[in-house]
Amino acid sequence: MMLSPEVLAEGLRPYGLHLIAESIRELPDGGAIFAAHQGNERRIGWIGEASPFPAPDPRMPIRIQGQPVWIHPWTWAHYRLLRERLPALSPARCDRPASFGAGDRLGMATAAQIAALERYPVFPVLAQQSPRELARTGRDFQTVLLDAAWGVFASGFAGPFGADADHLQDEAQLRAAAEAGYSLYTFDLRRALARGPRPWEALSPLARSVVAELADRRVETPEGLRTLEEPALQAAACRYEPALEEVVRGAEILRDQGIAADLEVSVDETEEETTPEAHAFIAVYLQRRGVALWSLAPRFPGVFEKAVDYEGEVERFAQAVALHAAVARTFGGHRLSLHSGSEKFRILRVFREATGGHFHVKTSGTTWLQAVRVVARVAPALFAELYAIARAHLEESRRDYPIALRPEALPPALPDDPEAALVDRAVRQLFHISYGVLLRERGPAIRALLEAHEAEHFAAVRENLERHLEALLK
Ligand SMILES: [Zn+2]
Repeated sequence: MMLSPEVLAEGLRPYGLHLIAESIRELPDGGAIFAAHQGNERRIGWIGEASPFPAPDPRMPIRIQGQPVWIHPWTWAHYRLLRERLPALSPARCDRPASFGAGDRLGMATAAQIAALERYPVFPVLAQQSPRELARTGRDFQTVLLDAAWGVFASGFAGPFGADADHLQDEAQLRAAAEAGYSLYTFDLRRALARGPRPWEALSPLARSVVAELADRRVETPEGLRTLEEPALQAAACRYEPALEEVVRGAEILRDQGIAADLEVSVDETEEETTPEAHAFIAVYLQRRGVALWSLAPRFPGVFEKAVDYEGEVERFAQAVALHAAVARTFGGHRLSLHSGSEKFRILRVFREATGGHFHVKTSGTTWLQAVRVVARVAPALFAELYAIARAHLEESRRDYPIALRPEALPPALPDDPEAALVDRAVRQLFHISYGVLLRERGPAIRALLEAHEAEHFAAVRENLERHLEALLK
């Protein structure tokens, strides 16, 4: 490093630039880069004779102790150029048996999520949003990845990290994520399944041969051998083949573009519990069609309500996970994925144990709720306002979110200690699903407040994710 962090920070200050010291990285081909804030704008600094970015500011470079320093905005085009030189800034495929996804709906908290995740033996998936979340936050796959990559860059994290295009339901969404360079694609079968099953006579010869191959196969579970039943396999084939054809098409699109990615199939938001027969059919059918499954998110028994702990019998959940893990081991070796992992403290450890440590967990709402908590703590008046807005828009917010929240369960006014209000189940659930309307109505105020209290915000996000990781791994 040609300039010490202190000298660099000092030299940047007259330009209103605040250096993020931990971001400084030396480049393999000489020079160095760093992240800085200018007001609330994100900047890339480049130390070296020439900057690789087009159209630098005419006032550039500034000179600090004789060294040329170029300042550029953090844009998609600049990020694309930068990640060609620094692969650590590009999403990568998972290289560990355990992985953990942490969505960041505000696009401000990735550095705090990294601070938690890097302390644990899990592969971090940092950009993780569904089209449903994108629509509500007015973001797209590019901006989500750009925000997450900023967190990676600014925190100095050496990677690798994943980026999950979550709950994809159509080809346009897939293409947008592929264009941005995502490394994990989650195919949500819900919409395709809603179109109904295909009659047995109309199934492909391949689907029928998979049924014949799997019938009466035995899976070794901790409770003994479980035989795959032919009628259930036939029903699964009729139900899933049309939906899986869309996954095959999606995988082909990625392959045609030369994208090697991790592929997840999710049925976690379907009504019925996923049977071992359905799981085995999905895995083997995809294999026969040349698609390697990275993970499957089954619908597990019990109730996975947003923002609150697991509701159901933990013992039954553990048995179901163990059975699915056995199916996964027998037919392909993919991992199991647990969605709605936010606040599910009762089952996280059970999930890790029953999967033998080969798993993926997704959380997202819990990071957003920590931001809400900071608002409650430092700006009670804004918090009360957000509560009123959220209540008034409950019906809009609950669309797409199956949630048992009853309006009459919501207190008309919040208690004097607003942070205590977030202990209330109904209030937590309301805030969990209301991010779209709150960001639309008061986004700039929420963001400004969190920027002004960044240390507190980051501490809240980090501490909360650490609680999840402790519950999962210890
Ligand atoms: Zn899900």
